[in-house]
Amino acid sequence: MTATTNLFRHVFDQYSWDDVAARIYASTTSDVERAMQKAGNGTPEDFMALISPAAERMLEPMAQLSHQLTLHRFGHVMQMYIPLYLSNECQNICTYCGFSLDNKIARITLNEEQLLKEVEVIKRYGYDHVLLVSGEANQSVGTDYFEKMIALIRPYFSNIMLEVQPLEQFEYERLINAGVNTVLVYQETYREENYRQYHPKGKKSNFNYRLQTPDRLGMAGVHRMGLGVLLGLEDWRVDSFYTALHLHYLEKHYWKTKYSISFPRLRPALGCQEPNHPITDRQLVQLICAYRIFNENAELSLSTRESPVFRNHAVKLGITSISAGSRTDPGGYAAKLQALEQFEIADNRSPAAVAEMLISNGYEPVWKDWDRVFAV
Ligand code: SF4
Repeated sequence: MTATTNLFRHVFDQYSWDDVAARIYASTTSDVERAMQKAGNGTPEDFMALISPAAERMLEPMAQLSHQLTLHRFGHVMQMYIPLYLSNECQNICTYCGFSLDNKIARITLNEEQLLKEVEVIKRYGYDHVLLVSGEANQSVGTDYFEKMIALIRPYFSNIMLEVQPLEQFEYERLINAGVNTVLVYQETYREENYRQYHPKGKKSNFNYRLQTPDRLGMAGVHRMGLGVLLGLEDWRVDSFYTALHLHYLEKHYWKTKYSISFPRLRPALGCQEPNHPITDRQLVQLICAYRIFNENAELSLSTRESPVFRNHAVKLGITSISAGSRTDPGGYAAKLQALEQFEIADNRSPAAVAEMLISNGYEPVWKDWDRVFAV
């Protein structure tokens, strides 16, 4: 058993939300310039300056630096990914999600036949890896179900990613053995005192269990993990600082694991709240550039929650992976199963159209996971 002092909770407890906010808002132009000089290799304190209002006024040089760092580390390559929703069953109430338990919608969990039909469409798009997504219903959609479904689709994909409920370390070990390469788990918000307002019912209301999930993943030896917060719930600057702090800690403790950061902005969905703290397009660009200038190795991922115009622009600023053709309802690719989508898609272009856009911007879309492509 690992002592708590070795876990992220210990680091997290050394910072208070209000102090972090005060320090971010007090950052000066000189702090931003100093942070930019550490290009690609900053500290969490440097990150505070990069996401400050002072840095918002320096967006042009930040964007240029972020672009250069990304080209230097990743080249003109953009990884394509696509989510495959296994189930919209969920035992949690989350105030921002269409799958929330209190929403009276048709609930669907794919069986083997339905899953293979989804796979057929995704393979036709050209994808060689897939992100499996589900709500949180441990009885019907737990580790046994995932293991069975992963075994079924493994012959079709060189890489399988997972975005499901937080699990125990031994469960992650089972799923990694079954073929999972990457696990995404977003904290939603690091503001502990407000976390329960957004997660009033279900296992997800346990802030601490979620906070320690990346530690369990690191101990399970996952190849790659993805972090992020739901931008719009709380002040994006403070929440993003804690994400960067988490990334910094994880890279030191689980140095064999690779990391990615996602930027989900709160999107409209049935019965869901509006953003309390909206983040503008310009601020989202600042955040993407800030992550790249802070950390040149992290993969930065942008989903179809964002509009075509925004995504066309953002791919040149630091993003290294992008989804395309996404459906957020189980069974949504092969047949409309009358399941409600988790959130509205803003970019409805086909995978081929997004690939065309990337090529016209000088990027090579990669449909296979690049770890495998470049590993030998
Ligand atoms: S965010 Fe996840 S856990 Fe919360 S209601 Fe939606 S699917 Fe369930």
